[in-house]
Parts: sequence; C-alpha cells; structure tokens
Amino acid sequence: MSTPDYDLVIVGGGICGAVIAKTVVEQCARKKKFPRILILEAGRATALSADKYDTYVEAYHEALVKVPNAPYPASSSAPQPDVLDIRPLQDAQGRPAVSDQGYFVQKGPMPFGSDYARSLGGTTLHWLGTCLRMLPNDFRMREKYRRSVNWPIGYDELKPYYERAEWDIIGVAADVGHQYYPGIEKGDPRKFFKSANVDKFPGGTYSFPMEEIPSSYLDQYLAKHVDDMTVTLPAGYPGEKEHKFTIRISNTPVARNSTPARPDYKVVGAAGNADRGQRCEGNSSCIPICPVQAKYNALKTLYELIVRYPYALGDGEKPGRRARVDIRSQCVVTQVLHSTGAVTGLTYKTYYDDGSPATDHTVTARAYVLAANAIENATLLLASGSAANSSDQVGRNLMDHPLLLTWGLLPENVGAYRGPGSTSGIPAFRDGGFRDTRTAFRVEIGNWGWNFPENSPYDTVLDLVGGSKDGRAKCYGRQLRKELGRILPRQFRIAWELEQDPEARNRVTIDDRYKDALGKHRPVIEYDLSEYVKASLPWAAEASRQLFARLGMTEKRRRPTYETGDYSHYDAGDAAQVRYKGKTYWVRGAGHVVGTHRMGDDPTDSVVDSHQRSHDLRNLFVAGCGSMPTLGTSNPTLTMTALALRTGDKIAEELSK
Ligand SMILES: Cc1cc2nc3c(=O)[nH]c(=O)nc-3n(C[C@H](O)[C@H](O)[C@H](O)COP(=O)(O)OP(=O)(O)OC[C@H]3O[C@@H](n4cnc5c(N)ncnc54)[C@H](O)[C@@H]3O)c2cc1C
Ligand code: SF4
Repeated sequence: MSTPDYDLVIVGGGICGAVIAKTVVEQCARKKKFPRILILEAGRATALSADKYDTYVEAYHEALVKVPNAPYPASSSAPQPDVLDIRPLQDAQGRPAVSDQGYFVQKGPMPFGSDYARSLGGTTLHWLGTCLRMLPNDFRMREKYRRSVNWPIGYDELKPYYERAEWDIIGVAADVGHQYYPGIEKGDPRKFFKSANVDKFPGGTYSFPMEEIPSSYLDQYLAKHVDDMTVTLPAGYPGEKEHKFTIRISNTPVARNSTPARPDYKVVGAAGNADRGQRCEGNSSCIPICPVQAKYNALKTLYELIVRYPYALGDGEKPGRRARVDIRSQCVVTQVLHSTGAVTGLTYKTYYDDGSPATDHTVTARAYVLAANAIENATLLLASGSAANSSDQVGRNLMDHPLLLTWGLLPENVGAYRGPGSTSGIPAFRDGGFRDTRTAFRVEIGNWGWNFPENSPYDTVLDLVGGSKDGRAKCYGRQLRKELGRILPRQFRIAWELEQDPEARNRVTIDDRYKDALGKHRPVIEYDLSEYVKASLPWAAEASRQLFARLGMTEKRRRPTYETGDYSHYDAGDAAQVRYKGKTYWVRGAGHVVGTHRMGDDPTDSVVDSHQRSHDLRNLFVAGCGSMPTLGTSNPTLTMTALALRTGDKIAEELSK
C-alpha cells in the first residue's frame, strides 16, 4: 500500500477543524509523535494576519445592511448562505413554493433562517460568542421527558472537556456564582460546575479563566425591575396545571476577553497581533465582526497552530521531529472516496479567482475529519454516494433555535447600543416538567436596541427624516439628534430562543439540478417546526407580555410612534411565519445549525458514535454541531468544542500507536 500523503486530513478551517487539529498536535507531542496534518478550507484565508482582517472590518463599515455575512465576501466558488436571501415559501396564491434565491434551495414549508460563513475561521467570525453549557437533562430527553433521544454520553462525561474548551480553546469570561441553572441544586451553580480536576481547581471549586463581562446598564435596570417576579404560564391541555417561573437575570458566559481571573491564564489577542483584542472595548459589532478580535474566533487557534505550535511542541527544526500543519485555502472538498468500510481519499477543487477554471486534486491520509459545518458535512456525504449513511440519518434531524423576537420602548434611558450584543439572559424556562409537552427556551437580552427586528438605528433615522414610507414630519439637525437621543437608548428587545426537537423530516438533501459554480451540490433544505416547538410560542409570547407589563410597556405600538410601549408585531411579508392555534408568530433563525449526522450507540439510528467516528467508515470522523442529537437551550458551539476535544484525543491516541 502506498504511503498516505498525510496522517490526518481535516475538511474545514472553522472552530471544529481547528480544535481537532490543535488537540491532535498537542496530544501526539506528549508521546513524541509528530503528525502531518492538512486542513482543506473552501474559503479564502484573507484574515489570518491582523492587517488583512481589517479588510473585513472595512467591508462591514461599507455594508448598507449589517447582516452576519456582510463583512465576508461572497464567492461563486465557495458560496455561503445569506439571511438576505430568505424568502416566504408561498406563491402569490399562497401555494407552497421552492426558493433557490440564495445558496440554499429552500423547499419549506418554512425557510431555514440561519446562515454560516465560508472563509478561513468559519462562522465564529460572526458568532455572538455566547458559551453556555448544556444542562444534564438536555442529554437525556428521552429518559427524562419521553421526548427526542438520549445522547450516548452525559453531562458528567463531557464536563472535563467543557473545562478545556473554556480554558484552553475559547477563553470564556464569566463568574460561576452569577450563573443560574433552573432545577439544579435549587439554582446553586457550584455543584453544576464542580470540577474533578482538583490540581487546577482546589477542592473542585471551578472558576472561568476570565472575569465576567460586566452586565450592561440595561441588564441592571431589568434586574431591578423584574428579578424575582413570578411569570405564570397557562396550562395547555386538560388536566395540566398552570406553571410558575421565577425570573432571574443572569450574566451570560461569553467568548470575549476581559481580565484574567487567575494569574495562570494568559489572554489571547488577535490572530497575527497579540497586542490587539486583549480586552472587549465595547465596539458593539460582535455580530458581524469584532474589529479588534476581543471576541474569540477560530483564526486565533489556527494561528497558534501554524505559527507557534510546530516549533514549541516539536523537537526544534529537525525534519520529522515536529508536527506539520498545512492549511490550504480556496480548496473545496467535493467527494469522500471510500471502499470496504474505509475512506480511501478526498477529492477537492482548487480555485484562484471566481470564474477561472478550478484544478482537481486527490489527497490521502490515515484518518479523515469532516468539520465543514453541519449542513456542508451532510451535503458532502450525500454527494459521495451517500457515504456513511447506512442508517439513512445523514442530513436528517436538522435543528436550530427558532427565535421569537419581542421588542418595545422602555419609559427610561437604558443605554441601548452600547457594549456586546448580549451580556445577560433569563434562564428560568430552560428546564422543568413542562418539557414533556412543550419545548424549553432561553431568553437572551439584547443590548442593541431594535437592530435585529427593525434594522435600527438606521430605520429609526429614516423614520425621523421622513424617508420611510410611513414618513412622519421631517426632522433634521439638532432636533434629529435630540429625537434620536430620546428614542434609541430606550429601545429594548429580547429573543426567546426555543429548543428544537430532532425530526427526520427536517433535512438536508442534494439534487443534481442545483449545483454551484464548481459543480458542487448546493444544500436542499426541508424544514418545519413540530407541534412540540410550536406549543411554546404562545408561552414565550405570554411571558413577554407579563415582563413588558411589569416594565410599563403595555400599549401596542408601531413605528414611527416612538412612545413607550410594546412594538412587537408580525408583518405579512415576513418570511418565516408560523400559524398556531389561530395566531401568527414570526420566527427567525439563530445560526445554530445542529443535528445532520447525529451521534448514538445504535448504528441503525445514528451516523457517528460518541467520538464522532462514522459507524460505517472506520477512519472517518464527522465532527461538529451536526453530531449533537439534541441541542437543549444552549448555543451549541461550546458543547461542540468539548466534543471536538474528545474526538481530537481519540484520533491522537490512534495516530500515536
Ligand atoms: C449570527 C450567528 C451567531 C452565532 N452566535 C453563536 C453564539 O453566540 N454561541 C454559539 O455557541 N454559537 C453561535 N453561532 C454558531 C457558531 O458560529 C457555529 O456553531 C460554529 O461556528 C460552528 O463551527 P464549525 O467549525 O462546525 O463550522 P464553521 O464555523 O461554519 O466552519 C466550517 C468551515 O468549513 C469550511 N468548509 C465548508 N465546506 C467546505 C468544503 N466543501 N471544503 C472545505 N472546507 C469547507 C467553511 O468555509 C468554514 O471555514 C452563531 C452563528 C451565527 C450564524
Ligand atoms: S463589544 Fe466590541 S470589542 Fe467587545 S466583543 Fe463585541 S465587537 Fe468586540
């Protein structure tokens, strides 16, 4: 047999691929093994130096609409989904329609409302950075609530990997004492975080590596007005009792640099310039881009990996005595070649400029990792003769956190549009007996006014100068500044992030009619919400009503009124509308793309095992949020990073043999 080109080839230079590469290099080095690793990345590597990263910042400044992918250039060779391409999936007569407007081909009945980035660094370039651990019950939904499926591993098994993810990879800022977990030790977080690593955390008393990012003035205002209030939510079926929840505003763990909590933690600055981004400076543009990289992105891990590690962990410059990590950007993997239970190679296309001919290549390795994001992993496997799919689960169980937004104008100035996108949330609805009939949800408090639902401050300015079609009296100069000063700092919105359950019908497929410029299949998506999810929409809306009433925002209002009140509304033109029990709700995507190659012990019902190894192809690992069987109410990347560390350990163990 010929010698493989590499020990390990990883598809995708996002956080998942970067973490696995880093872990393999580190763990192998401990055994004096120095693997050769190749990362194939579809997008451009523009931002690996701090100066080049600034071109993204400039693109962001120039963009008219600041959606998540605004700073990252579109490419026909490595196209990416964009939330601006989301369309209602009905024709003028209200009949179902397919939309192939953007990169996704959306077959509905609901549009899938999230995007991802296809540039080196991946979607962490424009994530918010919320880093919540999943709750123990999230891993055992079937056992506890007779819903969804259980994971093959539980919270306790993942806990040491959460700690490594928070300390060694992402750098999470939070205070254990300020966390609140419903149902766990009466909300006492210490047991939840208790560590088995007593050498690092004496007595098992866990602490995050960095001090918490201070709660915003808005968070403090809310805590003053709604902390300890009881929200009562009605029964939904005969015999069910009403449910009561105690509201507590809780500071959120985030991937954002602050002050080290202990002297043994060194803050990681920007990729290519460690002096930048050592502290969050409140630039207030975390989505779509942190100008100084105070927020974690995968470029930081990749930079460390290619610039420092091979020398630091290896045996100087001696050939074969240091790890070799090659990153090849603008290389789109198109096929997983396989035979008799193993992957035999990957084919990929290299492009230089959009439109110029791409060149074809094949690469071989001892082991392979797909880490191209849940939707791309599934598309790639399906396009490879339905590889690793004896269970027929590849592409299925696609999930997100459907978001219900509510927003209003508070009676007082709360300093909106300052600081990170969110610094606190309301965890009260994350767990409880109600999960046997309706989905849990988490409340994210937004610091950026009505930016998400109303494209403010831009649309507010348009309203005031009379540029909107609603056009009130024109307002310019000093009066405009005064009005903006009155309105913008009082804008308030919350996102009700609903847990979605896995359903086989929610899926990614491929269709030979839909290919991109390089001939790679585009993802074809079928997506809907289950009754289980929909049952929580009226609850979220009612909880919002009670919170808003407590805050003095009872009047229903519409722009451009700009008086105190509740401005949440549904517009007929909005893409993702959900009818439930006679009411219409407007649901957005959260960017949390999960579930397309789920893990499990049973190969007939899952794609990978608990180490994210394919049940069918022994040298293939399919990694990322796609492996998560359920997603609870935590933003998924921290859990995905913990899983990637575990997978990296496993691969290193095997490569070191
Ligand atoms: C607006 C937004 C906000 C978010 N906020 C949060 C948050 O606060 N907290 C949280 O936990 N999560 C958040 N997320 C989700 C988070 O960004 C993702 O979970 C995470 O980035 C996934 O990491 P990944 O490495 O698996 O995939 P990605 O980060 O998407 O990286 C995949 C990489 O693979 C490359 N690739 C794709 N196809 C190919 C191919 N065929 N060949 C070669 N390379 C390929 C891509 O170019 C990309 O670089 C957010 C997402 C969005 C969109
Ligand atoms: S608030 Fe600003 S400095 Fe802080 S993480 Fe967000 S964009 Fe970066």
